[in-house]
Amino acid sequence: MTRALFIIDVQNDFTEGGALGVDGGGAVAAGVSKLLAEHPLAYTYVFASRDWHDIGNDNGGHFARDAAPDFVTTWPVHCVAGTAGAEYHPALTTDAVTFHIRKGQGKPAYSIFEGTTEAGETVGALLSEHGVTEIDVVGLATDYCVRASTLDALEHGQHVRVLTDLVAGVAAESTATALAEMAHAGAVFAASDVVE
Ligand SMILES: [Zn+2]
Repeated sequence: MTRALFIIDVQNDFTEGGALGVDGGGAVAAGVSKLLAEHPLAYTYVFASRDWHDIGNDNGGHFARDAAPDFVTTWPVHCVAGTAGAEYHPALTTDAVTFHIRKGQGKPAYSIFEGTTEAGETVGALLSEHGVTEIDVVGLATDYCVRASTLDALEHGQHVRVLTDLVAGVAAESTATALAEMAHAGAVFAASDVVE
């Protein structure tokens, strides 16, 4: 059994004070760092994703331009490549990260599986290559990128746990819907104290 951790989009723009800040995002950053510090052997591989959008265009309609964002498919400008908003939250310790994944260059991308490493490797290929069979998912936001990444991991044949105290959502209703979808697709929910 080879277990990996997915840290989804724990970036300044998705945490308090950011362009698209999620309540509880900063606590998720600190909690993930604590998890990794207390359980350094729990994960053979750690994947961390960042939304990484182009500057100067609407990234395939992902950024609201002429109308107010609907916070479903159009969003305020966020996570523009190279800006402070796109960086990992300062409370997230990234020493243990094996693979840094960037997604969303010029297009909407909610799932970590839509991203690549700087060398162009895909997440699906890396999981297969390294024999990963179990994935724990943490990060932001439960109702969007955590949801999409979890569903794709299940689709990839992984056993997936979502660590419920280390995720946070944009809105209560869409978070409840996302949790139901993930459960229906086969995800297991657990608090992070199950990690050994
Ligand atoms: Zn985005």
